[in-house]
Amino acid sequence: MSLQEIEDRLSRACAEAGRARDEIALIAVSKIQPLERVEAVLEAGHRLFGENRVQEAAGKWPDFKERYEDVSVHLIGPLQSNKARQAMELFDAIHSVDRPKLARTLARLADETGHCPELFIQVNTGEEEQKVGILPADADTFIAECRGLDLPLRGLMCIPPVDETPALHFALLQKIANRNGLTGLSMGMSGDFEQAIAFGATHVRVGSAIFGDRVYD
Ligand SMILES: *Cc1c(COP(=O)(O)O)cnc(C)c1O
Repeated sequence: MSLQEIEDRLSRACAEAGRARDEIALIAVSKIQPLERVEAVLEAGHRLFGENRVQEAAGKWPDFKERYEDVSVHLIGPLQSNKARQAMELFDAIHSVDRPKLARTLARLADETGHCPELFIQVNTGEEEQKVGILPADADTFIAECRGLDLPLRGLMCIPPVDETPALHFALLQKIANRNGLTGLSMGMSGDFEQAIAFGATHVRVGSAIFGDRVYD
């Protein structure tokens, strides 16, 4: 478990970017990881986690939340509208608001329940067909639409294409956020979170560098 190592890298990246460490939330991405690895990170005192599937999160986090205080879990994977209600109960933030229909569903449920997690709009900065996210050209309109629905918008999120320089995508996301007056930037993963911090990331999502490689079976 190398949480401390990641903390050291984070602090160094902050110093280099002239930013304070407390401007950046470290989301430990625990998807697929064996429960004992997750528990070790909880035992080390870490309290902020990320999951990319509603079902998987529902199977582990209610129990961990009972046993550890002040745990927050963020949804960082795509959300189907029919799982929106469950997601709003489970998660403290949703990073994957990616289409008008989902925004309207979230707004309706927020009205009904009086509760809504913090939201990030996912932008498909690489315009990749296999990825969800609003296209950069549609982002301003969608942000305005979410604001019109009174949703608690925290910022923007992106996942750069694997075969491109992430810096270009981080810069694009930062630019879209700036011109829309949004301060939250969810970007940067195990391989590139230091660069993301240089471009203003407020939430970095780090999985394998903390927990080790994910073993899919
Ligand atoms: C899995 C995942 C991560 C973490 O990736 P690592 O390379 O293991 O750090 C970050 N963001 C999203 C959206 C993910 O699905």
